[in-house]
Amino acid sequence: MKAVIIGGGIGGLSAAIALKRCGIETEVYEAVKEIKPVGAAISIWPNGVKCLNYLGLHENITALGGNMAYLAYNDGHSATTLTRFSLSPLVQAVGERPYPVARAELQNMLLEQYGKDAVQFGKRVTHIEEQQDGVCAWFEDGHKATGDLLIAADGTHSVIRNWVLGYQTERRYAGYVNWNGLVDIDETIAPADQWTTFVAEGKRVSLMPVAGNRFYFFFDVPLPKGLDEDRDTLRGDLKRYFSGWCPPVQKLIDTLDPQTTNRIEIHDIEPFMQLVRGRVALLGDAGHSTTPDIGQGGCAAMEDAVVLAIALQTNSLGIEDALQRYQEKRNERVKDLVLKARKRCDVTHGKDQQATHAWYDELKTETGERIMAGIEDTVMGGPLA
Ligand code: FAD
Repeated sequence: MKAVIIGGGIGGLSAAIALKRCGIETEVYEAVKEIKPVGAAISIWPNGVKCLNYLGLHENITALGGNMAYLAYNDGHSATTLTRFSLSPLVQAVGERPYPVARAELQNMLLEQYGKDAVQFGKRVTHIEEQQDGVCAWFEDGHKATGDLLIAADGTHSVIRNWVLGYQTERRYAGYVNWNGLVDIDETIAPADQWTTFVAEGKRVSLMPVAGNRFYFFFDVPLPKGLDEDRDTLRGDLKRYFSGWCPPVQKLIDTLDPQTTNRIEIHDIEPFMQLVRGRVALLGDAGHSTTPDIGQGGCAAMEDAVVLAIALQTNSLGIEDALQRYQEKRNERVKDLVLKARKRCDVTHGKDQQATHAWYDELKTETGERIMAGIEDTVMGGPLA
């Protein structure tokens, strides 16, 4: 059996490693010559970590991951702690730790595990066609690839999604802009072993530790789409949006490097229930694009990869049947994640000011139990719970 995999991001590479481990021949085609991830870092929650463990990457991920032992919310203006608690009960309940990691390092880890030389870079697929006993993909440079099945892991702007669904999906602007990057850990900004978030005015500023004594930081601000802002205006923009916020936030804005800070308008796609057509399967953001508000897009791509590999390995009624079983196992799960993230996004970013202020009040009485119960519910919905 040979699988053609389109896309060498988190989803495509996880799928390639998972299938290879099951003895399935794989070919990976990636559009760009060099992958430059859209964000600086990513939090991999225990459901994603378990998938990486399944792929034989446990030691690698623990080496790249930051020590996120505590979680705290602070008021953005006064820096007063609203809640702070240990994540240890969560780890005990779900059986694995969460790991925030630098994206470039995660990408490199997956590439190394699959085999960097085995990925065909600079190959952008233009269209695909299902043939009698397989699938054929054509590329911009005239190259043609054939396989018994095709995995479309070509991201949120997937060109293969339309072919699978038979219609064009629209990306939905979630109403806020996210800036993210990496800085050296500075304990006058936040503790080194904690996920710290400052909240006020429907905005947030967050810091998570990653390996190498660095913080992954991000800022969220509800804003209209398409503003004329870029790296040249970045520090001034953040100073303006966070004017009057507490000293740690000001220090973070002063410290960050605008040239390595990303600015992203956050989108998702209304969930759809079809991930498969014949011998073609959508995987990762191609099949379910979510806002990053519960940190699950990449984790879900890893889950897809594991479920798909197991379906292909354990079902003997043919590829179409195995892919249908993959779809059945995944579509409710990924829909749930997208909608959960959208709900969290709206509360965090002041879509309804009353609900956002009620949440700030709730944080003052939070012992950690409610937040960890929510995370546990999400994590335990994964395939390796
Ligand atoms: P991508 O990473 O987009 O990879 C798709 C690949 O396909 C790319 O390399 C692209 O070049 C290639 N490609 C595209 N078109 C073609 C083509 N025509 N032919 C060939 N190749 C093609 N997730 C988490 O789990 N935790 C987090 O904390 C988290 N934080 C996030 C923060 C932000 C700001 C954002 C924007 C997202 C976050 N996510 C997070 C989501 C996560 O980044 C995505 O879900 C994940 O990257 C999806 O991986 P993917 O492989 O499906 O798609």
